[in-house]
Amino acid sequence: MDFTTIKTIEDLDKIYPKHILDKFPIRGKGPFEHVSDSDWYDWHWQLSNRITTLDQLKKIINLTNDEQEAFKLGSAMFKMAITPYYASLMDRNDPHCPVRMQSVPAKGELTVLPTDLKDPLGEDKDMPVPGLTHRYPDRVLFYVSHDCAMLCRHCTRKRKVANPTSAALRQHVEDGLKYIRENRQIRDVVVSGGDPFHLANDKLDYILGELRKMDHVEVVRLGTRNPVTLPIRVRDDGLLQVIQKHQPIHINTHYNHPKEMTREALLANTRLALAGADLGNQSVLLKGINDDEKIMTELCHKLLLMKIRPYYVYQCDLAEGISHFRTPISKGIEIIEKMRGWTSGLAIPQYVIDAPGGGGKIPMNPNYFVKKEGNKVTIRNFKNNQYDYYEVDE
Ligand SMILES: *Cc1c(COP(=O)(O)O)cnc(C)c1O
Ligand code: SF4
Repeated sequence: MDFTTIKTIEDLDKIYPKHILDKFPIRGKGPFEHVSDSDWYDWHWQLSNRITTLDQLKKIINLTNDEQEAFKLGSAMFKMAITPYYASLMDRNDPHCPVRMQSVPAKGELTVLPTDLKDPLGEDKDMPVPGLTHRYPDRVLFYVSHDCAMLCRHCTRKRKVANPTSAALRQHVEDGLKYIRENRQIRDVVVSGGDPFHLANDKLDYILGELRKMDHVEVVRLGTRNPVTLPIRVRDDGLLQVIQKHQPIHINTHYNHPKEMTREALLANTRLALAGADLGNQSVLLKGINDDEKIMTELCHKLLLMKIRPYYVYQCDLAEGISHFRTPISKGIEIIEKMRGWTSGLAIPQYVIDAPGGGGKIPMNPNYFVKKEGNKVTIRNFKNNQYDYYEVDE
């Protein structure tokens, strides 16, 4: 079996048992019922028909007064763009719909706290060349596109994404490649943006091809939210040929809520896996969306069904205008504690805070250490039972 034989959601019946398929609902086109299949399943059509205006949005959902006001005041700060596919998952009437909350401007965006930061992760100060952040000894973050299929309201790179003045110039990509070529300690390249799946196949092929010519580069990762916001992108065999050609390729995507896990998403991830990609997920802990252990557990279980390993769950960072999404850190630790031991270890992501100002990712974990007396170390398990472990003298 390879990706050329699994092209449509019907083909998935050849692979998965019914009870697995049933967890990934087939969603119609919703308010886009009039759109032909040939348009709907064309990712270029999806991108050129993104919902960007209040009038377009009003045809799809019943907006609250708050949302309308937020749109008028806030969309000047960060544009709205929603693919018809992602918009079709929105609840028409419920402003708390997790898909809607991630894509439709909210009033909370207008609040900028004094502790908020323009460049919350200090990515710009660690840039040896524009478009590349080198913070850790052996790996870099390489921005190859400044646009994404859907613009997430909680985006930490709002200042760059969808900002035409920050367009990843061809020269930036060349400069980034040159930097990686000349710095032989770089073993791992995270190709990100924006979204690298936003590039045309031949551009992505070129970048991956250049990276694969460098014999010090081992790990190549792609960070893309297309499997969530535009899984139709992965119906394109050309994209999968590129991924297959430059192995090993790791893909990290960004599911935040089980509602995003449709049959179309299952198709996309199945095809990526068939093309040889290793799949991971990074979520952001978002208030009112996934700050609940039941939702997080369901999300992670479904990720495993799509062969995606939960990798990180991020504490929402200090970017401007996203404070309405932030939860206390204790909430994240509590969620992890309620998962660890109670479900598959494979399903448990590492909770991290990407430290403000550029400290990198710092793991936040529940504490299972109780005390140490001489050689005796007391630890507790997930049920809060205590156990003694004896260390040997050094
Ligand atoms: C997240 C990140 C990486 C990759 O970190 P891992 O912990 O290896 O996934 C590399 N560089 C920067 C700047 C990052 O933010
Ligand atoms: S996909 Fe990532 S980079 Fe793009 S808007 Fe969403 S959070 Fe930002």
